[in-house]
Amino acid sequence: MAFYLKGVKLSHKKNTSPEKAEKISVNSVTIPMSMHIGRPANAVVKKGDTVAVGSLIGEAAEGLSSPVYSSVSGSVQGVGEILLSNGMTGAAVTIESDGEMTLDSSITPPTINNRDDLINALSKSGIVGLGGAGFPTSIKFKTDKPIEYLIINSAECEPYITSDNYTMLTKADMMEYAIETLVKFFGIKKVIIGIEKNKPKAIAKMRELSGKFNNASVKVLPTVYPQGGEKVMVYHTTGKVVAEGGLPIDVGCVVCNCTTVAEIGKYLKTGIPLVEKVVTVDGDAIENPQNVIAPIGAPIKDVLEFCGIKAEIAKALYGGPMMGISVTDLEKPVLKNTNALLAFSQKQAFVPKTTACIRCGACANNCPFGIDPVAILKSYKEDDYLGMKKAGALLCMECGCCSYVCPAKIPNVQNNKLAKEAIRKEAQREVK
Ligand code: SF4
Ligand code: SF4
Repeated sequence: MAFYLKGVKLSHKKNTSPEKAEKISVNSVTIPMSMHIGRPANAVVKKGDTVAVGSLIGEAAEGLSSPVYSSVSGSVQGVGEILLSNGMTGAAVTIESDGEMTLDSSITPPTINNRDDLINALSKSGIVGLGGAGFPTSIKFKTDKPIEYLIINSAECEPYITSDNYTMLTKADMMEYAIETLVKFFGIKKVIIGIEKNKPKAIAKMRELSGKFNNASVKVLPTVYPQGGEKVMVYHTTGKVVAEGGLPIDVGCVVCNCTTVAEIGKYLKTGIPLVEKVVTVDGDAIENPQNVIAPIGAPIKDVLEFCGIKAEIAKALYGGPMMGISVTDLEKPVLKNTNALLAFSQKQAFVPKTTACIRCGACANNCPFGIDPVAILKSYKEDDYLGMKKAGALLCMECGCCSYVCPAKIPNVQNNKLAKEAIRKEAQREVK
């Protein structure tokens, strides 16, 4: 498949200051055991247990998984099932906060003497890809292949979101500590921080940071969505192409979001696992759009109310408007990979009427990978799994450009998701 970067120019709508974030407190949290790609953690607490901030409440399962920690101090109300935003149900621990936010007394910084210690520490940190993907970070580094490049994805190309920008402006010290340690123990040759050029202050700050290393640099990238797509970022920072079905490590790259890197630094320095998130709260239903620091598991409603709700919410999203996932219940919690919560009134949340495809080709022409969603849909309707694959369904990163540009308002990205799901189910059937 040819590799392009076309993408789309979007209105940024970044209304929130990236220089400050207020910490919020909540009365209770509901923390799912599945906030990452892979197997859910296993809850290790029960009703009545007392926990502190950073206490282990979910042990990582075997294989691809991540541990989960309490984000408040207080008492466990129970372990129940919740409906997650991806439509799956899973276990979640509800904790009533005592308001003290006492840190677990067992927390100490990890001792790192070698590569295995560092992988072990990353596994225990509970850190997953915080740019939205939720892939357990330790697994990215647990590779026999040499890591030539650490690419720090700081594009933050979705409209509204400024939480990564906040990280770059305020957590450079933590990023520095992480880079130093990762480079030393993983033998990384080069570090590239990729930022879209619409963030001049962050670019200056990251240049200051990269100047402290003899193998680090900042790559200023055009402001084109989806500049932050993992494969797009690899291509635009190194010129390397990750093949369909391949991973960045196949071309010597590990890509980490800048907030993930800062969290790694914080964990290595303090031993405090991932328990809170900087979240951009915005949208036309919000009175005071801003960044907040919320405990993981905080009810979305509490976070939105903290910022003020000025209009009836017709649609709320986890994440940005291009790749965000609809929130069907405002009692749902802030997750490890929640970088934004957007709330829109009916005026902005209306769904446009779909008309017939006019074969204009805008969808394929604006796809970063040149995928043709019309060909995918045709094969999907014919149950032609090979046809869907040949049309590039599995390469689709669900960035939404093809839906955004479609004059007929055809939900191309949703159709692609259906095609990918159909291919997966067919593959499972073949195995059985
Ligand atoms: S959603 Fe998929 S097909 Fe559509 S533009 Fe993005 S990568 Fe291409
Ligand atoms: S952009 Fe829309 S109308 Fe144009 S070819 Fe693609 S699906 Fe059809």
